[in-house]
Amino acid sequence: MITQVQSGVGVIGGSGLDDLPGIELVATIYPETIGNQLQIVAPDEPIKIFKLNDGTDFAFIGRHKKGHIRNPSRVKYRENILGLKAVGVTKFLHVSACGILAAQVEEGTLAVPDDLFDSTKGVRPRTFFAEAAVHIGMEQPFCPHLMPIVHNTIGTADIPTSLGGTYNIIEGPQFSTPAESRDFISRGFCYNGMTLMPEVPLAHEACGCSVAVLICTDYDVGHKKHKPVSVEVVKAALKRYIGRLQLVLPNIVVAMAAYDRTKCNCASALDNAVQTEEEFLGESTMRLLALCKK
Ligand SMILES: [Zn+2]
Repeated sequence: MITQVQSGVGVIGGSGLDDLPGIELVATIYPETIGNQLQIVAPDEPIKIFKLNDGTDFAFIGRHKKGHIRNPSRVKYRENILGLKAVGVTKFLHVSACGILAAQVEEGTLAVPDDLFDSTKGVRPRTFFAEAAVHIGMEQPFCPHLMPIVHNTIGTADIPTSLGGTYNIIEGPQFSTPAESRDFISRGFCYNGMTLMPEVPLAHEACGCSVAVLICTDYDVGHKKHKPVSVEVVKAALKRYIGRLQLVLPNIVVAMAAYDRTKCNCASALDNAVQTEEEFLGESTMRLLALCKK
C-alpha cells in the first residue's frame, strides 16, 4: 500500500482545482489514517497520490474540502500542511485564484509571487506550536530556487506568467471594498486574495519549500473600468483559464520533483527558531518539531 510520495511534491488546490481528472490516482490516504500516524491532527480531506506518465508521483489535497465547503477563514491550514508532511511532502505548490491589483497584469496570467502581505484579521490559527514560542524567519516567503523553476516551466508552455510581486491576503469572505482595494493598489501590491495565509508560513514551519501559482481571474474593485468581482465572474474566469494550469501542472510537478533541496535553506527553517527553553518543551511540541524537521 502506498503511503508516501517519493518526489516530495505536494499540491494544494484551491478554487477551480479540487481534483485532477486525467491523472492516474494511485492511492487515497484517509484523514483517520494520517491522524493516527501523527497523533496530533488529521487533515480535512483524504490526501490523494497521483502518478504522471513518466512515473513521477505527487500528493494532492483540495484546501476548501470537497464541494468547496470551507471558506478561506475556515480552511484547516495546519492540518492540511501537516498531513502532507506526514506523507512525505517537502515541496509545496500552493494554487490559488486571485484578483489583480497591478494594472499591468493580464487576466488569465498564472503568476508566481515572491512576497506576501497579511491583511487577515488574526482569526486563523497561525502556528503548529501553540505551547511554545517558535519564531521562524519569513525573509523569503517563497523558495528562491523553486520560484524561477515554476515560472520558467509555465512560460515554456507559452502561457502568460509573471514572476514576483506581492500577494495581499484579506480575511474575507466578502471581497474588498473600493477604498480597501485602492489602498492595496497604492501600497504596490500586485494580487489580492483570501488564501495562502497562514498556509505558506505553516509550510515554512514544516521546513518545506513553498511556491505559489496564482490564477489571475479578475481586476480588483479599485480598478473602476472593469466589471466588479463576484462569484460568477470568478467562476467564469476559472472556466476560461483553469485549463492553462491543468496543461502545465504535470510539467511543474516534474520540475519541482527534480529540484535538489540542498540548494536552499528552507529545510533548516526551524534551526535557531525555538525560543522556549528545552526543558519546558512538552511532548506534543517535541513530536511536532520532529515531524516538521523530518
Ligand atoms: Zn527551498
